[in-house]
Amino acid sequence: MVEAKAERRVPYLLDFYPLQGEEHTRIHPFFQHLQEGRLTTTRCTACGEVLWQPRVVCPHCNADEMEWVDLPQVGEIFAFTSVQAGAPKGMEEDLPFVVGIVTLKGTDMQILARIEGDEESLEIGQPVRVTVERLADGRVWFRFRTVEA
Ligand SMILES: [Zn+2]
Repeated sequence: MVEAKAERRVPYLLDFYPLQGEEHTRIHPFFQHLQEGRLTTTRCTACGEVLWQPRVVCPHCNADEMEWVDLPQVGEIFAFTSVQAGAPKGMEEDLPFVVGIVTLKGTDMQILARIEGDEESLEIGQPVRVTVERLADGRVWFRFRTVEA
């Protein structure tokens, strides 16, 4: 009898990470830029608003002409909490982990993301930097990691 190989696969609808190809999303440049280590977003060319998250239609003026702009790679922790249970599928083994809001340097833009480190070692106001997380299937996502001030 052949023993079934244990392979963890997350059902598509429970997959936390978005499909990132041009055939799946109109914000695919965001993921291409992330592959290059750049955190980017869209800026509405009609009203000039820099949007987060990246969008294909401006929520302020409804225009659909966007340009890609780089965001600061650094910021500081505005708030954070620790996830102790109820992690998304595929992240159960990461528990506990920290999720927080980071204010990007020189902006009023605040981004929700995972922050490397444990709850006890992090502080409000601590400087952080974007880090690209590479998934086994080639997709990318981002987190923040603490840096020296
Ligand atoms: Zn606009």
